[in-house]
Amino acid sequence: MIKRRYTQTIKVGNVIIGHDAPISVQSMTNTITEDTVSTVKQIKDLESYNCDIVRVSVNSSEAASSLKDIVKQVNVPIVADIHFDHRLALASLEAGVKGLRINPGNIGDNKKVKEIASACKDAGVPIRIGVNSGSLEKGVLEKNGGDFAEAMVESGLKHIKLLEDQSFYNIKISLKSTDVLTTVRGYELLAEKVDYPFHIGITEAGTVFSGAIKSGVGLGILLYKGLGDTIRVSLSDDPIMEVIAGYNILRDLGLRRGGVQLISCPTCGRSEINIAGLAKEFEKISFKIKSDIKVAIMGCVVNGPGESMHADVGIAGGRNKSVLFSKGKIIGKYDNKEILQALINEVENITGEKINLNQN
Ligand code: SF4
Repeated sequence: MIKRRYTQTIKVGNVIIGHDAPISVQSMTNTITEDTVSTVKQIKDLESYNCDIVRVSVNSSEAASSLKDIVKQVNVPIVADIHFDHRLALASLEAGVKGLRINPGNIGDNKKVKEIASACKDAGVPIRIGVNSGSLEKGVLEKNGGDFAEAMVESGLKHIKLLEDQSFYNIKISLKSTDVLTTVRGYELLAEKVDYPFHIGITEAGTVFSGAIKSGVGLGILLYKGLGDTIRVSLSDDPIMEVIAGYNILRDLGLRRGGVQLISCPTCGRSEINIAGLAKEFEKISFKIKSDIKVAIMGCVVNGPGESMHADVGIAGGRNKSVLFSKGKIIGKYDNKEILQALINEVENITGEKINLNQN
């Protein structure tokens, strides 16, 4: 059983973050924000995969003005990602965003920090301080003897103080490095000093393969230690993959329920059916299923029946025909050409959800 760290709670729109609230999954659009149509489409796609919060980069006044239209057309809470320019933060708040990501130490004088803090207070909008090992302030790394984890903590505390000086406490914080152990140590050190909720992630983690593994390791360690209240898996891929990876990490740690838990065998010389192909085909169409369901796709009659019987739905593959199990019982034997469809039909039958075969 994972014991989560006590934190204050904040609200990003209707999503509660911190303490014992469900750990939320975030992603970020990679469209040009000024392109309202494409950005809205991508946010709606993310919504359909149950993404809890979406961050949008706001790096120009044009982007801030298209944010107004974007916010109106979507349901998920939007966080504006701002660097350096406090006017973009104020314009984003006016556009109706539910969160800001901005580092107050990077926007100039105290007057500007005060303006943002006061506008956020009026709107009930929290600020995420997002410290990144690649963009630490000058001198802080040297001061900490080249220790990135210590340097990120010092930087984070500095930004926090600027907000606290304005009596602003509606804060969450992230300390992200591309290195797993540095990231973990940074959050561990910071957890000893503040009780603000943590947004956790491994920054610029990589492709969907290497990045999901790296994030799984890093976030897995942090979450297991009870550190982390909202997560983003950062991947060089479609943002939808970030959401899918995020939910998988949480589900594998027993921190969230829902979705398909796929069990598929690695295959060996006994397999007489293309299990890898079948598992991949099924996985592609399974991502949108919301019900909590275990599906086993197994290559032969050695382990196949056992695993399949313990899953909600399962296949034990054979040379020309495969056996389909449902809730522990054999419900039919199907030609291998028809087994995927039979599996899908049974999953629909059990979950009551309609599976769209053309979804990405
Ligand atoms: S289920 Fe059968 S085919 Fe798959 S790895 Fe085990 S023994 Fe091999």
